[in-house]
Parts: sequence; structure tokens; C-alpha cells
Amino acid sequence: MVSNLKILSTSKAGQYDISGHPEQPARVLASLQHLKTLWPAGVFEEPTPAPLEKIKAVHGDSLVHLVQEEGYFDPDTPGAPGIYACSLLSAGASLQAALESQKGTPVFSLMRPPGHHATPQQAMGFCYFNSMAVAIQDTVSRGAAKRIAVLDLDCHHGNGTEDFCLGKGEFLYVSLHQFPAYPGTGRQSRANCLNYPLAPGTEAPDYFPALEDAMKKIRDFKPDLVGISMGFDTYEKDPLTQFGLTRQDYRKIGAALKGLGVPVFSLLEGGYHDDLPFLVEEFLAGWTA
Ligand SMILES: [Zn+2]
Repeated sequence: MVSNLKILSTSKAGQYDISGHPEQPARVLASLQHLKTLWPAGVFEEPTPAPLEKIKAVHGDSLVHLVQEEGYFDPDTPGAPGIYACSLLSAGASLQAALESQKGTPVFSLMRPPGHHATPQQAMGFCYFNSMAVAIQDTVSRGAAKRIAVLDLDCHHGNGTEDFCLGKGEFLYVSLHQFPAYPGTGRQSRANCLNYPLAPGTEAPDYFPALEDAMKKIRDFKPDLVGISMGFDTYEKDPLTQFGLTRQDYRKIGAALKGLGVPVFSLLEGGYHDDLPFLVEEFLAGWTA
């Protein structure tokens, strides 16, 4: 495999474990182990935790305090020992991915928990801090980019990222997702948030034209940077959703990103089947081929 890639990940992402929950440590641990057999050691880097002030630039105090206390939000998003440290690390990897991708290298953050359902005020849907929102807010605040597009390819609508981006002209949020499905949002586009609701059962022949259209909208926006919220729960065997993408389709998605023509970073969001390591492999292989 070529080494024009950086993967931010750490076994510390496995330090919280909610019994019986689909969002399991093995998602990252097994994927990391597999990728290490494919790419040279120099590709991998341990992320550092996000500074708290960068979390607070996106999230309200009451949310931040409850995550710090590792408290309960909802049945999908219960607190657990280690969740605060992991959430900071996941957001830290996202910050680093955005920063380093602007030097010209594709960067993938292989971390958990995911983030795209976390709104500025509400943790939900397995998500505590919105790592994508933290990264794009920081990048714009530092003056490192004026316009950033987010392409959310998780099978669920990223309501949290949409809430954060809505009405902010420096951001474009674009999502392809199953509808109807959790969390019930994303049926229509709103202002600078473009939604592609796709029916349960969607397979490649309907998926890729939507992706192509989404990419055109992103190119038209002329972003300086694109963040990909990469969910793998669009997989045909995913236990939580009803899409029909195959393993090979993730290579095509990765390859499509090369057509954006600007720096791109990508974060792991969902994906709950044991084949996840192979789906990530295909995605990264397509992206960096
Ligand atoms: Zn999802």
C-alpha cells in the first residue's frame, strides 16, 4: 500500500465499553490491528486530546459538564467510565486531521466515540462531542480556512453537525443518509445544509449518482477544506440500517474523494458490522490509490 496517508488512532479508544452496545471497542481496535498489517508504521500516529476550550467553542457548558461527569444522556448515549477521556481524544484526532490534511496528506481519524449526532447542546446517538464541528470551527477560527464543506456519508443523518453548521455561511453541510431512520431529521435541505434522503434498500446504482451530485454541490461551494464524516453503516450487512453497499463500493467512495481537488480529512462515524476493518481498508485504498 502507498504511504501517502496518515491514520490517527490509538488503542486508548477502546478504554470505554458499554455492555451490549453496538458501538464497541473492537470497532477501532480490530480496524487498527488490521490496518497495521497493510500500511507501514510511519502512517500511524497517536492523537492527543482536544483542549477543553476548543470543545467549548462548539458545545454548551451543561453538555460539557455531563460528559465530564460521565453521566447519562439517553439509552443510546449512557455515560461510562472513560467516555470523557475518549471523547476528548476523538475530538483531538479530528482537530489534528483537519490541521495535517491542509499540508496535502489525506488524514483519517480512526477513533470513537463518533460525533455527528451531538448538537451544540445535546449529546445523543452514541455521540458526546461533535468532533467534526470542533475541527471545522477551530480551523476557521485560526484563519486556516475561510470555507469548509462537510460531506456526511454515515447512513444516519448527522443532525448535530447540521445544527452546528445551519446558517453559518462559512460552512456547507451535505449528507447522504437513509430516510426514514434515526434520528428522523434530514428529510429536506435547509439553507446551507443539503440533504439527500435515500430510501431503505438503497444500493450502488442509486447511491453513486446522489454522491456525484453532492460532490458537485461541494465543488460549486469552492471550499478550502472538506471534512468527511465517514460512516460504514451503509454496508449491506450492517445490523442497524437497511442500505445495500458492498465492500467494493467503499473503494469507489474513497476514489471519488480525489475528485474534490482540495485538502480532505475524514473521521470514522458509524459502522457496526464485524467486517468494519475491511470496509475501512477499501475506503482508504480507494482514497490513496
Ligand atoms: Zn450511523
